[in-house]
Amino acid sequence: MVLVIKDCNIVGKKGNWDIKIKDGKIQEIGHCLDGDEYIDGNGKYVSPGFKNTHTHAAMTLFRGYAEDLPLDRWLQEKIWPLESELTEEDVYWGTKLACLEMIKSGTVAFNDMYFYMGSAAKAVEEMGLKATLGYGLIDLGDEDKLEEEKQTTLDFIEEVRDMANVTPSVSPHAVYTVSDEGLQWCAELSKKEGIPLHIHIAETEKEIKEQDGSVVEHLDDLDILYEKTVAAHCVWLDEHEIEILAERDLTVSHCPVSNMKLGVGKPMDYGTMKKKGVRVTLGTDGCASNNNLDMFEEVKIAAIQQKMSGDTTMMPAGDAYGMLIDDPLDTGCYAVNEGMSADLILIEGSVPNHDFVSDIVYSLSGCSVTDTVVEGKVLMKDGYVEGEENILEKASYRASRLISKVF
Ligand SMILES: [Zn+2]
Repeated sequence: MVLVIKDCNIVGKKGNWDIKIKDGKIQEIGHCLDGDEYIDGNGKYVSPGFKNTHTHAAMTLFRGYAEDLPLDRWLQEKIWPLESELTEEDVYWGTKLACLEMIKSGTVAFNDMYFYMGSAAKAVEEMGLKATLGYGLIDLGDEDKLEEEKQTTLDFIEEVRDMANVTPSVSPHAVYTVSDEGLQWCAELSKKEGIPLHIHIAETEKEIKEQDGSVVEHLDDLDILYEKTVAAHCVWLDEHEIEILAERDLTVSHCPVSNMKLGVGKPMDYGTMKKKGVRVTLGTDGCASNNNLDMFEEVKIAAIQQKMSGDTTMMPAGDAYGMLIDDPLDTGCYAVNEGMSADLILIEGSVPNHDFVSDIVYSLSGCSVTDTVVEGKVLMKDGYVEGEENILEKASYRASRLISKVF
């Protein structure tokens, strides 16, 4: 089956083009190309799809439930009690809802850490986008609990090993919820399996104050920081710690909306990260602290948050757009070029049309995405995702049922 996107603009490339897609890849970019199936790209722009590098997809069910609280009370009084009632079915429908929202707003791949990840993987496979999924390992210093958590992690990796769209990760939650022994085990497993490691680092001032010495130095001593590590947040770090992140060649997932909503106290130091050469990408975090998965919104807030420093040249639109399409999750698509994986989105053109990269960063929203293609498969056409009504209905039921358990 050959798919052709007809008569489209390509972000960053002059002229009108046809894009021919075969066997999941961009085979040819040219004119008057023929295929078996067509998408009309007239008046639209094609971009590599966005990558959301930190989220907890099933938390879509929690949207609007825990608002305007400091992070520790938000977790202890609202989120953890609700999570203790979660079932596999909840995670399945919550993840389906998240995938639907991501497909509709231009995200083609995401990096997730949560519970009942077999159900999340099933949802991802059915929805057709790509995901790196990890079981959120938490042992709270309890040796027996660590043994159970290790087994859950190993079982999940086995369960998804042959899945087409899912890459497993090892996902210790954070330095304050996992013992040193647990963190070390995670680092060793990630390296042995050659799979990513996903962790929250330095989200709050409390986290760094409770640590005896530097959080980053401590994690570095445990060998957890390396090129396959994706570190979410990284807000409360000094210059020396940022240098360590750069030396270890890891990826930071910057989550400005979640950080601002949970009042973590200051913006991530993007300027120093950029100067030191840290790879910075964008994540929404979960819907309990965002409250959506729209990467257009995330990138705009990321860019304007940095300018609050008084330096309007911080995170210019080109750099911000680069963070949306960068490919730390190894999807194989970070540009619209022949040979790349066809993980593409079509975005409605804007009026006037001075600079479309600027439009993506500062003026458009997820609603501007009309079509989403992953590995050549059309997941959304003309704004419609097959089965979306059923997902909304089922997810709504699961959310109401869950909330009723804690009242
Ligand atoms: Zn998170």
